[in-house]
Amino acid sequence: MGLDEDALEYHRMEPSGKIEISTTKPTNTQRDLSLAYSPGVAAPCTEIAESEADAYTYTAKGNLVGVVSNGSAVLGLGDIGAQASKPVMEGKGVLFKRFADIDVFDIELDEADPDKVVEAIKMMEPTFGGINLEDIKAPGCFTIEERLREEIDIPVFHDDQHGTAIISGAALLNAADIAGKSLEELEIVFSGAGASAIATARFYVSLGCRKENITMCDSSGIITEARAEDGGVNEYKRQFARDVPEGGLADAMEGADVFVGLSIGGIVSQEMIESMNENPIVFAMANPDPEISYEDAKEARDDTVIMATGRSDYPNQVNNVLGFPFIFRGALDVRATEINEAMKVACAEALADLARQDVPDAVVKAYGDDPIQYGPEYIIPKPVDPRVLFRVAPAIAEAAMESDAARAEIDLEEYEEELEA
Ligand code: NAP
Ligand code: MG
Repeated sequence: MGLDEDALEYHRMEPSGKIEISTTKPTNTQRDLSLAYSPGVAAPCTEIAESEADAYTYTAKGNLVGVVSNGSAVLGLGDIGAQASKPVMEGKGVLFKRFADIDVFDIELDEADPDKVVEAIKMMEPTFGGINLEDIKAPGCFTIEERLREEIDIPVFHDDQHGTAIISGAALLNAADIAGKSLEELEIVFSGAGASAIATARFYVSLGCRKENITMCDSSGIITEARAEDGGVNEYKRQFARDVPEGGLADAMEGADVFVGLSIGGIVSQEMIESMNENPIVFAMANPDPEISYEDAKEARDDTVIMATGRSDYPNQVNNVLGFPFIFRGALDVRATEINEAMKVACAEALADLARQDVPDAVVKAYGDDPIQYGPEYIIPKPVDPRVLFRVAPAIAEAAMESDAARAEIDLEEYEEELEA
C-alpha cells in the first residue's frame, strides 16, 4: 500500500481521527463528581473570579494551546477550507503532545476575513495558555498575528512564519560559522516573499544580519525600490525593497553568500549556484521539492556547499518540530504574555549550540548508525534528539523572564532537571 492509502487507514481506524480527551483526576465516586462538577466546582470558579491568574492553578489553561486555522494555506494544499484542514490541526496537536506534553484544542474557523478571525480568537483567550496560528495565508496572517499580539495577553505564534525563521536561523548561525563568515557581512538572497520568507528575513536581521544586505525576490523578480514606489507590492514586501536594478533571481544570486528558498521547487539551476560567493549557504526549503536538489547543488561546486532543505531524506532538515513544542513549553511554564524576539533568538541560539555538541548514541542509532558530527552535513539538531526539550524550553523561559514577558519566576536549574526526568 502507498503512503496515501496507509494514511487514510490510519485516520479511519476506530476511533476516527487520532486524538481524544482524557481526565486527569479521579472520577469514580459521587464525591469525585461533586468536586469535578457542581457543587464543588463553584469554589475554584469563585477563586478565579477574584483573581484571574488562579486559572493557571485550578484549570488546564496553563498547559493548553489553541491551534487555530482558517484553512487558507494548508501544507502544500493551498486554500482547502476550515473543515478539510482539521486532520492537519489535529496532527499539530499530536506533535505538541508527543514532543512537549502540551494539550491542544484544534480550532478550525470558517472565516476568510482576517479581522473576524482576530475577533474569534480574542473571544477564546480565557480558554488557552497560548495560541498557535497555523496555515493562514499571507498577507492576512501578518495582520492577524500583529493585532492579536497587541490585543491579548497570552502568547500568539504563527508557526509557519516564525518556526521556519527560527529553525533556519539556527542553521544559519552554524552555517556561517562553518563557512567562516560573520552574519553582518552575509549577502542574502530570498526566493519567495510570502509568510515564511518575510518572517525569516526579519528574523535574520534580529540575529545580526544586515537588512541592507538582503535581496528579496517574488514571482515577478527582485523587489526593487522602483517596484515598491509603483505600488506593485504589499507593505510587507516593501520593507525589503532594495535600491538595485530590476532583475530576476539569477541576477540576485550572483556573488551572494546565502540563498534562502521559500518559494517553489526546481527554480534554481546549477549555474546560479556556481555564480554564488565561496562556500555558499543554500537553504532550499520549498516543499516537497526544493528550489534545487541536494545532489545538484553539491555537484555544482568544488568548494563546500552548506545545504539545508525541508526534507527528511537529506541532511539538515529544517523541521519546525524542533521549535514550536519547546517554545510553547518554556512560554507556558513561566505563564508568558507573549513570545517575543528575545525568546525566538534564544531558541535559535540554543538549537545552534546543541548541534555543536556530541550526539548521544541513541540519536545516532535512530538515524542509521552513521556518525553525526558538527559540520556542513549537520548544522541543526535532529528532531528525535531528546536534549532539544531540556535545552530549548529553559532557554525560552530564561529569555521570557529577562525580557519581562514572564508572569511566573522559576528556578532554571530545577526546571531543566524536571524536564530531563
Ligand atoms: P506563500 O506565503 O504562498 O509564499 C510563496 C512565495 O513564493 C510568494 O511570495 C511567491 O511570490 C513566491 N514565488 C512563487 N513562484 C516564485 C518564483 N518562480 N520565483 C520566486 N518566488 C516565487 O508560501 P509560504 O508559506 O511562505 O511557503 C513557501 C514555500 O516554503 C512552500 O513550498 C513551503 O512548503 C515552504 N516552507 C518550508 C518550510 C520548511 O522547510 N520548514 C517552512 C515553511 C515553508 P508572489 O508573492 O509574487 O506570489
Ligand atoms: Mg503549517
